Amino acid sequence: MEQFLIDNAAHYHKLVAAYKPRPDKKAAGDSTGVGNPEMVVSTRIRPMLEDEATQGFPSGVFPRKATNIVDLHELKKSVRGTPSLNSFNFTVDRIFGSEATTAEIYESLVKPLVPWAWGGGVGTLFAYGQTGSGKTYTVSGLERHVAETLMGGLLEGERKIHVCVIELAGQAAYDLLNTRKQISILEDSFGTSQMAGALEHNVTSLDSFIEQIETAASLRRTAATQKNDTSSRSHAICRIRIENPSVPAAEDGMLYLVDLAGSEAARDRSDHDTARMKEAREINTSLSVLKDCIRGRAMVDADIQATGKSTKKAAYVPFRQSTLTKTLKHVFDPAGARSCKTVVVACVNPCLADVGASKNTLRYAEMLRVVVPKAKLVEYKPNVPATWNNEQLCAWIDTNVRVSSPATFPLPQAPLPSIRFTRPPSPMYPSLPSRWSLHPSPSTSPPPLPEQ
Ligand code: ADP
Ligand code: MG
Repeated sequence: MEQFLIDNAAHYHKLVAAYKPRPDKKAAGDSTGVGNPEMVVSTRIRPMLEDEATQGFPSGVFPRKATNIVDLHELKKSVRGTPSLNSFNFTVDRIFGSEATTAEIYESLVKPLVPWAWGGGVGTLFAYGQTGSGKTYTVSGLERHVAETLMGGLLEGERKIHVCVIELAGQAAYDLLNTRKQISILEDSFGTSQMAGALEHNVTSLDSFIEQIETAASLRRTAATQKNDTSSRSHAICRIRIENPSVPAAEDGMLYLVDLAGSEAARDRSDHDTARMKEAREINTSLSVLKDCIRGRAMVDADIQATGKSTKKAAYVPFRQSTLTKTLKHVFDPAGARSCKTVVVACVNPCLADVGASKNTLRYAEMLRVVVPKAKLVEYKPNVPATWNNEQLCAWIDTNVRVSSPATFPLPQAPLPSIRFTRPPSPMYPSLPSRWSLHPSPSTSPPPLPEQ
């Protein structure tokens, strides 16, 4: 198959150049909503590596200019002879092409999570994608940038920073800052997930922070060479806990940077022995549960944004179904009171030889997106108070409703001008208690009184 792709590279380039995208239904559908600001799904298309380019593979993934759509073209064998294109497109919130640097990704996606966690929130970054797509490259770069911001002294107030890095392989968990000692993921009696046995390291300078990150990375790399690349078959979680010593009762801010296991399907793994196949199935299950949890939580958030109400029971978030999501309970539990911001970077290898796996990655990314319905603009009608905005309502109340006699029962303590009514006046207004009287003022022209 690889030789077929190399032999037909010139024909493929011609087909791609002639490709005209059809008006995209998915993109049009997006105009009814906006991406969820608490849950940004992006993709990073890494550059072609030297050996991929020298072998003559073309790129199969193309960000569409000035849109958030990625086109992907497969080359299909045909019985008649001339191969043809099989084209797909995917919509995400942000696209970073091969020329984008990790610093740019940090500035636009991850930097906002840092002050958020500094203030007590939970910020999470997931890097998802097939082995070799650039997950570790991206996460390790972002970890350094996070360390620089946290230790840069520009954030307000004093905080204690604690770092812990663990690796999850199947049901087992290991502490990467304590020579891969096995630890347990448990839920305590308060329902909080604990990494029992993991060491947390207090970092006080940028150097000590970087040292911890590098220790964890080198342990992962060593394990990878010794045991046939365990790094692509395990999830690595770097947890940064930010404690505010001046408010001991406040919950700690949390930053999770998660380098997920390779997303390739079990059948695509090079090693096909029973243990490896079982491991691959476990990874796929954990990634599938992760998808359900991210979507579930995003739907709860989107519902709250759209309706202003908390409907925690609306979506099912199955975070107890895998060790990964159990460890990240803070992020997913809709019953938890923590405010969360989540960023997903779907890493893509653009090489045409890997286009099948890239298609799955982009499809997964697209499935994570929960579009928040746009609030409908209500047309102003002078006779319908429900269409008035707050200023119009306040003007109406200030002008038409005055206290005419001393209160006989406790009234709000605030001085009159600052009293603000948030409910629109309803036809019940004229039957207000006798202490109220209506005085239209000639000096201003408020909206007219609703007709009875
Ligand atoms: P993964 O963790 O997804 O298996 P890696 O992060 O190890 O993949 O990346 C695979 C290879 O690609 C590495 O040699 C890495 O240096 C390179 N690479 C990944 N992303 C980029 C990038 N954006 N720019 C340059 N090289 C990259
Ligand atoms: Mg990796």
